[in-house]
Amino acid sequence: MKALLLKETKHLEIADVDIKESVGPNDVRIKIHTVGICGSDVHYYLHGRIGPFIVKEPMVLGHEASGTVIEVGTNVKNLKVGDRVCMEPGIPDLNSRATLLGMYNLDPAVRFWATPPIHGCLRETVVHPAMFTFKLPDNVSFGEGALVEPLAVGMQAAKKAMIQAGDVAVVTGCGTIGMVTGMAALASGCSKVIITDTLQPKLDLAAKMGMTAVNIIKQDLKTVVDKATDGWGADVVFEASGNENAVLHAFEPLRPGGCVVFIGMPVEPVPVDIVSAQAKEARIETIFRYAHVYPRAINLMESGKINVKPMITDTYKFADSIKAFEYAANPKPTSVKVAIEMQ
Ligand code: ZN
Repeated sequence: MKALLLKETKHLEIADVDIKESVGPNDVRIKIHTVGICGSDVHYYLHGRIGPFIVKEPMVLGHEASGTVIEVGTNVKNLKVGDRVCMEPGIPDLNSRATLLGMYNLDPAVRFWATPPIHGCLRETVVHPAMFTFKLPDNVSFGEGALVEPLAVGMQAAKKAMIQAGDVAVVTGCGTIGMVTGMAALASGCSKVIITDTLQPKLDLAAKMGMTAVNIIKQDLKTVVDKATDGWGADVVFEASGNENAVLHAFEPLRPGGCVVFIGMPVEPVPVDIVSAQAKEARIETIFRYAHVYPRAINLMESGKINVKPMITDTYKFADSIKAFEYAANPKPTSVKVAIEMQ
C-alpha cells in the first residue's frame, strides 16, 4: 500500500510499503480518510528523534486519524462495515498493571502510532483494535474526527484539573493543544479561559472560540488575571507551551490552593519554581496523552459544545503530503492544524 514514509531526517517519500496486517477477531480494518499533522510528526521529520524515541528504520508518520471501517473481526459488536470512525493511536497491553489501574496510557508496553519503531497511519489502510476505534456521529466530519486525538489531550488536562463550574482558567500557549485545552476547560464548566501567546492570529481565533486572548508582547498576564479575579488569581493554570519562561512563571497567575497542569513538553529539562508553588500550596498535575476520553470528546463535538472546525486551517491531498510537511515545518502564523486527506 502507499504510505508517507520518513526515510531519514528531513527525507520523506510517498512509497509502497509492505505492511501485512490480518484482521484478528477483535480488530477492524479501516480505510484512512483524514490525518492531522501533529507537532511530534514534524519533530520526527526535522530531527529524527524526540527524547529517547529515535527513528532508526524508515517509519510511516501520522497518528491523528479518521476513516471508514472496511472489514470487521468475528467478535466485533460495536462497529460494522461502512461506519465512519476515529482511532485512538496508542494500544496498551490489556493485561498490564497500568491498564488494570485505569491508566493504560502509562503502560510501558504501549504501542503508539508514529512513535518509533511503530508505523503511523499516513497510509491507505490500518488494522486496529475495535475497542480503540470510535464511531463518529453523522454531524461530525472526518476532519473533526482526526482532531479528536489532540482534543483528547485537552480533555485529559481538564480531567486532571478537576474543574468546578465557574472556575477561571489560564492557558499559556495558543497552539493546537492550548486551544483544545481552552475549549475542554470551557466545556467542563469554566466561566472564563484566559489564553496567552505572542502570535496574534492564533489569539484572534481563540477569541472567536470564546476565550479571552492575551498577547504577552503587549499585555501582562498577571494584570489581566488580577483584574478578572479581583486579585485572587486563576483556579487553574494549564501550561501548554513547553516554553521555559512560561513554565518558570506558571504559578504567578494562580490563586492560593489552585492547580497547575503541565501539558507542554520542553525539549530540554527546564526549572520549576518550587517555592512559588509552595507559597500557594499549589496542586501540580501532569499529563501524558490520555486514557479513555475519546467517547466524551466525541460527545462534545456531536452536541456542538466543542467546535474544532475553525482549527483546520490548511488541507492537502495525500499526493501533496510532502509539501504539507514542508509547510507544517514552517507555517504561516495563521495556521493551526494542517490536515492530509487520503481520499
Ligand atoms: Zn498529536
